[in-house]
Amino acid sequence: MFDAIIIGGGLAGCSAAIELAKHDHHVALIEADSYPRAKVCGEFLSPESVKLFSKLDFLDNLYGLYPTKINTVRITGTQNIEWRSKFPEPAIGISRYSLDEGLVNHAKSYGVTVYTNTRATDITGCFDEGFTVIAQSSEGQVTFTSQSVIVAHGKHSNLDRKLERNFSRKGSNTYIGIKQHFQGKALFEHIDLHTFPGGYCGISQVEDDRTNVCMLVNDAIFKNVTEDRGKSVDHFIDWICDQNREFAEWITPAIPLYPKWLTIGGVTLTAKPPIEDDILFVGDASGMVAPLAGDGMAMALHSGMIVAEALHDYLQCQIDAQIMKLRYKQTWQRTFQSRLRLSRFLQSFMLRQPILKPGLQLLNTFPALGDWLIANTRDMQLLD
Ligand SMILES: Cc1cc2nc3c(=O)[nH]c(=O)nc-3n(C[C@H](O)[C@H](O)[C@H](O)COP(=O)(O)OP(=O)(O)OC[C@H]3O[C@@H](n4cnc5c(N)ncnc54)[C@H](O)[C@@H]3O)c2cc1C
Repeated sequence: MFDAIIIGGGLAGCSAAIELAKHDHHVALIEADSYPRAKVCGEFLSPESVKLFSKLDFLDNLYGLYPTKINTVRITGTQNIEWRSKFPEPAIGISRYSLDEGLVNHAKSYGVTVYTNTRATDITGCFDEGFTVIAQSSEGQVTFTSQSVIVAHGKHSNLDRKLERNFSRKGSNTYIGIKQHFQGKALFEHIDLHTFPGGYCGISQVEDDRTNVCMLVNDAIFKNVTEDRGKSVDHFIDWICDQNREFAEWITPAIPLYPKWLTIGGVTLTAKPPIEDDILFVGDASGMVAPLAGDGMAMALHSGMIVAEALHDYLQCQIDAQIMKLRYKQTWQRTFQSRLRLSRFLQSFMLRQPILKPGLQLLNTFPALGDWLIANTRDMQLLD
C-alpha cells in the first residue's frame, strides 16, 4: 500500500513525487516510457521554472546538465514585422531528453519508487476505501494499491478514455507538435518565435551546441498544405519558408541532427477539471497552457507542488478528503485559470496573420502592453 501513486513521470508527476517523498510519504511513480527519451517540446524553461526547480532542490543538478541561458525573445510575422522583448529574469534552454531523466533520478534519490515501461490502464476506488491502479508492464499486468492517486499523464492518454473524462472538445481546434534538433547559426541567449498562417515555431539553443526547432501547427492547415505530399513534414517546412523569410534564413543552412522529425498529434487547449471524483490531475492532464507562453513546464511543476502540499496535510490526517480536494481545486483555479484563458486568446491571435501584424505594431508602439502580456501569461509572484 503506497501513500500515493503518481501516473506519468514527466515534470508534473516528478514534482508531486519529490514533494511528497520529501515528507517521508511512500510514493510510487508509474511511467509508460523509459528514460532518457526525446519529447516534442520547445525546451524553453521560463524564469519561473528556474525558481520552481530551486524549490525542488534540483537547481544544481539542472546546471550540471549544461543548459543555455535565454534573455531575449523576438516574434516575427509573415509581413516583415517583428517585436522584441526581454524576460524579467533569465530563462533556460535544456532538452527534455536530459531534463526528464535528471528529474526522475532526483525523485529516486528521495526514495520514490519508479516503475518505467509501465502503462496505467485503469484506476478504481476512492479516498474512503483506497485506490487500485492496474498497469501493463513488459512482464504483464501489475496491480498497485494506495491511499491516493495523482494523474500526471500529460496532454492525452489512454486513461482519459478509460476514466470517461468528459471535458468538451467541441469547437476546439486540434494541433500537431513537430520538433527536431539542428546544428545551425547560434542564437546567443535568445529565442525566436516565427509565426506563419496557422502556427508558430520556436527556435532556441539547448545543451551541447544544439538548437531546438519546435512548432505547433493547426491540424487542418498541416493537412491542407501536405495532403498531396504524403503529409510530409519536410514539405511543410518548405511551405513555412515561403511564408516567413526570417524562418527560412535560419533553417535553410541548418543541419538536422536526426533522420526524422518528432511529431505528436491531437494537441488541444481544451479546459479540463483538476479533480474528477477522487482522482487528482496535474500538469497538462489538468489543462494545457498554449505553448507560445513558454510556461507549460512551469505550470506542470507548480501544479505538482500544489497538489502535494494539499495531499500531505490529508495523509497526515490534518484535514479530511473533502477539504483537501476543495483546497487543491481552489488553489489550482486561483493560480492557473486566468493564465490559461489569456494564453488561449493570444494563441488564436498569433495564428491569424492579418491581425498579428497590427497587433505586433501595437506592441512596438506601447512596450508596456508587451510587458503586461508576458507578466499575465505566467506566475510573476514566483519571481518576487
Ligand atoms: C509543441 C509544443 C511546444 C512546447 N514548448 C514548451 C516550451 O518551450 N516551454 C514550456 O514550458 N512548455 C512547453 N510545452 C508544454 C510542455 O511540454 C508541457 O506543458 C509539459 O511537458 C507538461 O508536463 P506534464 O508532466 O504534465 O506532461 P508530460 O511531460 O507530457 O509527461 C506525461 C508523462 O506521462 C506518461 N504517461 C502517459 N500516459 C501514461 C499512462 N497511462 N501510464 C503511465 N504513464 C503515462 C508519458 O509517457 C509522459 O512521460 C510545449 C508543448 C507543445 C505541444
